Amino acid sequence: MKIEVLDTTLRDGEQTPGISLNSTKKLRIATKLDEIGVNSIEAGSAITSDGEREAIKEITSQGLNAEIVSFSRTLIKDVDYCLECDVDAVNIVVPTSDLHLKYKLKKSQDEMLNDAVKVTEYAKDHGLVVELAAEDSTRTDIEYLRRIFKATIDAGADRICPCDTLGILTPLKSFNFFKSLTDLGVPISAHCHNDFGLAVANTLSAIDGGARRFHGTINGIGERAGNAALEEVVVSLDTLYKDENNNKKYITDIQIDQLYKTSKLVSRLSNAYLAPNKPIVGENAFAHESGIHADGVIKNSATYEPITPELVGHRRRFVIGKHVGTKGLDNRLKELGITVEKENLNEIFHKVKDLGDKGKTVTDTDLEAIAEHVLNIEQEKKIKLDEVTIVSGNKIRPTASIKMDIEDKEIIEADVGIGPVDAAINAVNKGIKNYANVKLEEYHVDAVTGGTDALIEVIIKLSSDDKIISARATEPDIINASVEAYIDGVNRLLERK
Ligand code: MN
Repeated sequence: MKIEVLDTTLRDGEQTPGISLNSTKKLRIATKLDEIGVNSIEAGSAITSDGEREAIKEITSQGLNAEIVSFSRTLIKDVDYCLECDVDAVNIVVPTSDLHLKYKLKKSQDEMLNDAVKVTEYAKDHGLVVELAAEDSTRTDIEYLRRIFKATIDAGADRICPCDTLGILTPLKSFNFFKSLTDLGVPISAHCHNDFGLAVANTLSAIDGGARRFHGTINGIGERAGNAALEEVVVSLDTLYKDENNNKKYITDIQIDQLYKTSKLVSRLSNAYLAPNKPIVGENAFAHESGIHADGVIKNSATYEPITPELVGHRRRFVIGKHVGTKGLDNRLKELGITVEKENLNEIFHKVKDLGDKGKTVTDTDLEAIAEHVLNIEQEKKIKLDEVTIVSGNKIRPTASIKMDIEDKEIIEADVGIGPVDAAINAVNKGIKNYANVKLEEYHVDAVTGGTDALIEVIIKLSSDDKIISARATEPDIINASVEAYIDGVNRLLERK
């Protein structure tokens, strides 16, 4: 059974508090969504603003394979704006619950129905594909819901979408609700919200009940608790459902091995933090620390992984910490290019456990340092940091001066930046330019604890030629943490040369 996918990352997803995507970012995301096989892309809401229309036009002008959809209310002027943006389809959203009709719109059921029919006819007359979305339909009188769907289907609506706007369905209710609408004769879309953490479960049940399309967003971003996460629904459909002959029961057009990359792109462009334990695409989705688990996964990954990371384009990670076992540790050391004898391995193992007991995650850098110490192959760091001085404030251009020791030469440099961290890194770059040619690929900051005295963890990714390395530092001072992580990364890149 084919299930079609409508991605609404650029519309419902963009309604996430604090997320705003400019047209360049929207275009990059739309291009990626098209590339991975999304059937319909809801690019935005044409009525919103000039900028939004510019973004939608930019997307419709690309000649993508996906159907490009705009949100529209039951107003002719909304459809006109959609037409101006040259979209293929409109998602006409009709509030149908008494609460929405009475308090939001002050309209009767019949008035709303007439508006919906009028706008559907208008959109159809102008060549648009129409999906009729009933907002808050799971709190709508079912007789009225069926009446408005029937009337708009008669007026030409191509698909219907009863929306669980507040995420109040349960999987069983969702199954029955969608099943009860299958007799209406047009494809049904599921649009589920995640207020109770059930958006994905309810979407899957809706599909079992007869929905043939679903709406989702990458990483599940969206208003409040978000929408159904596209990647979770797609991978669940692919992996968990089999027919009586043990064939896949549902198929989608999505290239599953691109999902991790797509997730990364969306979280980077939207600046939306992705929880490490997010299913499928989170950084811990295929990470193992416990010795028992790591040992099992090394012998046969199916012992503790329901799918392989490769399936979704992710990677397996063994996190070294207090739960590590010797096999996992040996494996990680080999991946870092370090081979050790058994007695050395035991010594490294105990040092790692010690660090783990102190509450530290043992990073690759830590592990390399420990191994090098135990094996007595410690290399002298090429670049040593002596001093960092920052001048910053609301009327001052952030300025940094830095004193380093590079191959026993004292290097002093200063530079400005858009912020103090930027200024400090710029100064370091000036100082090391004759020794290393590095590019900062990623920069990530987390407050490890709460409060203004929080420990700050900086994680960076640096590249030089074709080598990429990550380094991190944890400090109460964000500038020191950034500079330390940066210099540590550069040193390690130089060692690898
Ligand atoms: Mn929604």
